[in-house]
Amino acid sequence: MSISKLGIKIDVDTLAGYCQGVPALLQVLEEQAVTASFFLALGPDNSGKAIFRVFRQRGFLQKMLRTRAPAIYGLKTMCYGTLLPAPLISAAAPELPARIAAAGHEVGLHGYDHVRWHDQLFRLPAAAVSREIAAAQEAFAALLKRRALAFAAPGWQCSPASREALAAQDFLYTSDTRGSGPYFPRFGQTVSPLLEIPTTQPTLDELLGLDGCRPRDFSNLVLSRLSPTRPQVLTIHAELEGGPYLDDFARLLRCCRQQGVEFFRLEDWARELLQEPGRIPTAMVISGRLPGRAGTVSCQGSMEATTS
Ligand SMILES: [Zn+2]
Repeated sequence: MSISKLGIKIDVDTLAGYCQGVPALLQVLEEQAVTASFFLALGPDNSGKAIFRVFRQRGFLQKMLRTRAPAIYGLKTMCYGTLLPAPLISAAAPELPARIAAAGHEVGLHGYDHVRWHDQLFRLPAAAVSREIAAAQEAFAALLKRRALAFAAPGWQCSPASREALAAQDFLYTSDTRGSGPYFPRFGQTVSPLLEIPTTQPTLDELLGLDGCRPRDFSNLVLSRLSPTRPQVLTIHAELEGGPYLDDFARLLRCCRQQGVEFFRLEDWARELLQEPGRIPTAMVISGRLPGRAGTVSCQGSMEATTS
């Protein structure tokens, strides 16, 4: 029987996701004997500033209301960085990253100031982009006594400047984009030397409530998209699947287990792929829109020939 493979990528965007969502997810993952890849934003939680997307991003308000975001994120989180000071995520629960790693999971970076990267990446000078990554690495090293090997861009936003800065800071691989499979990203004539493993599945917050989609419908869609020939990457959020949708996430893992799905950590797949880098294709990075997501995200264009 051929086996489908699924990598669970867990984005932790906020202080609440870090302090409450992560411990809840650790428990569910342990119960289901699943190892996953956690990506932490360790800088200030400026979630309140995300509200200004209402004026900039088509579909943001509708998405907020459709997914009941105010109820999920809570009033406090929605005021951080505006009415309330932005709390530093790395200062809360400093033992947590080591706990995640001790449970056998991968720990990588999800930027420093999540909202700043998500909303301003394309307007920031290259030096400021480098500083965001360096600050994230510094916070990571202070907690885990080593550098992070993986970086997942907040909001799937990546630019030529961010790719260059990430390549200069010795990451093993990134998970910055949405796409179909591993590749070396190309902007114009420049190919990034850093392997990219994109998210291949839609996310719960995109599809929830869209055309009446319930959590169970979402899980069924994820299951239907699994393939024995193409490993899949599903991004979940500590604030959602580690919060009000924890039971739905546990159910999805159970269904995967029943179907014999094998779970992998993105880091392990990256090491495997990089043993034969010549077999990894290149692809353009393009700006695209996804059903149920406000604004644009960085997407993998069509695959190009491998170098060997
Ligand atoms: Zn995020």
